Amino acid sequence: MPVRLRSRLASSLPCTHVLRALGAATLLALLSACAGRTAATSSASPVPSTAELLACCGDDAMGVGLRIAADYREPAITTRRFTHEQYWNAVLPVVTHAGFRVEEVGRSLHGRPLRTITIGTGRDTVLLWSQMHGDESTASMALADLFRWFANTRAEDRDDALRARIMQGLTLVFLPMLNPDGAERFQRENALGVDINRDARNLATPEARALKAVRDRQRPAFGFNLHDQNARTRVGRDGVQAAIALLAPPHDASREYNAVRSRARLVAATLAMSFGTELPQRVAKYDDGFNPRAFGDLMQQWGTSTVLIESGALPGDPEKQRLRALHVGALLSVFDALATGAYRAADPAWYESLPFNTGGASDLLITGGQLVLPGQAPARVDLAVNFDDAVARTGGRVREVGDLADVVAIDTLDVRGLFLHPAASALVRDAAGAVLRIGAPAVFDVRRGAQPESPLVRTIGAAP
Ligand SMILES: [Zn+2]
Repeated sequence: MPVRLRSRLASSLPCTHVLRALGAATLLALLSACAGRTAATSSASPVPSTAELLACCGDDAMGVGLRIAADYREPAITTRRFTHEQYWNAVLPVVTHAGFRVEEVGRSLHGRPLRTITIGTGRDTVLLWSQMHGDESTASMALADLFRWFANTRAEDRDDALRARIMQGLTLVFLPMLNPDGAERFQRENALGVDINRDARNLATPEARALKAVRDRQRPAFGFNLHDQNARTRVGRDGVQAAIALLAPPHDASREYNAVRSRARLVAATLAMSFGTELPQRVAKYDDGFNPRAFGDLMQQWGTSTVLIESGALPGDPEKQRLRALHVGALLSVFDALATGAYRAADPAWYESLPFNTGGASDLLITGGQLVLPGQAPARVDLAVNFDDAVARTGGRVREVGDLADVVAIDTLDVRGLFLHPAASALVRDAAGAVLRIGAPAVFDVRRGAQPESPLVRTIGAAP
């Protein structure tokens, strides 16, 4: 378990030990009361503002959420890749329970049922949909865990107050795994080859039509568009790999903040705080150009305050199980903030100050070494490597060789003064000698000298 650090934003605002000592439930009740107070009177008060409370103690709420994520983790789902059948075999027994309403709202092109699961009786409806891109499953895993938590029927549970507050304040409508045909092959598009998130205007796919019909019937106040993004994305130009990216999408090309988008920005700010407490420097803001074919943007246009959450990747989290748990924590925190109204006191700057996502990085840059082909003099070149699986960082392939001083990468390996000897598997041979091809397996011995028998320092890319 990594050491938990408070975000830069959190630490920039005051915090009292008394408030930190409060349980999350008490705290969020206080937030709720305080939100009403700040709406009524804007003058300075000896009571900390809601913003200060949120800033102070968002990490406490996240701590509760992470404990819940561990306690209620769906044990049948342990990796990123699972089918519709596996998912619903795990989830259906959990949600066949008095507190849930399960409804088939359509079928995929190949006939797989699309279902909503509804929880709660509150005034504000919240619609969450996951995995409209079939290979983006992090949030689907987290939703399975949340269903187990909502289903808990133990006589006395320490989360009862939190659960009751959310279920009384909100009507949560979940539509998990919107693209089951894509999930079956772990591909982005549906069976027709259509990117469902570019089908919000045309509605040519049954999956897009199902989502639009649910929105039109439920008229949700809030929406959560749950995705995974390219792992080769960094926080700003010079930052580390992005673990999370957030967006309150524009409702039209002007990108102005009308009431609907402004409310979404407060939700995004609340999420930035929650994720940021656990992932300092690893939360980014997604590009906010208007896309008239995308669901997030059109949901905003249709009047649902919508936030995009993108899971990126984390070092040492090859199956995104840590990101899954962080989703449970952040979603519970934001549900509570929506149920109590505390989100209204969030500071838009918590979202606006996030650096933009920056894509296009290589996975690994090997810099400073000399490359030695058999029988040839060494050459002073850098190598860029991309992994076949950029999340798990397995299956490295040579992407570029040469002067790569301006290439940005998720990781950099400095082999200054050392010699890179490609393994036989990295080379092809023609009549005149060995050739290192772009796309070849990136398997190298790093040695002290140019001779193949010189001392070995380490290997790169060898099978474990
Ligand atoms: Zn996506």
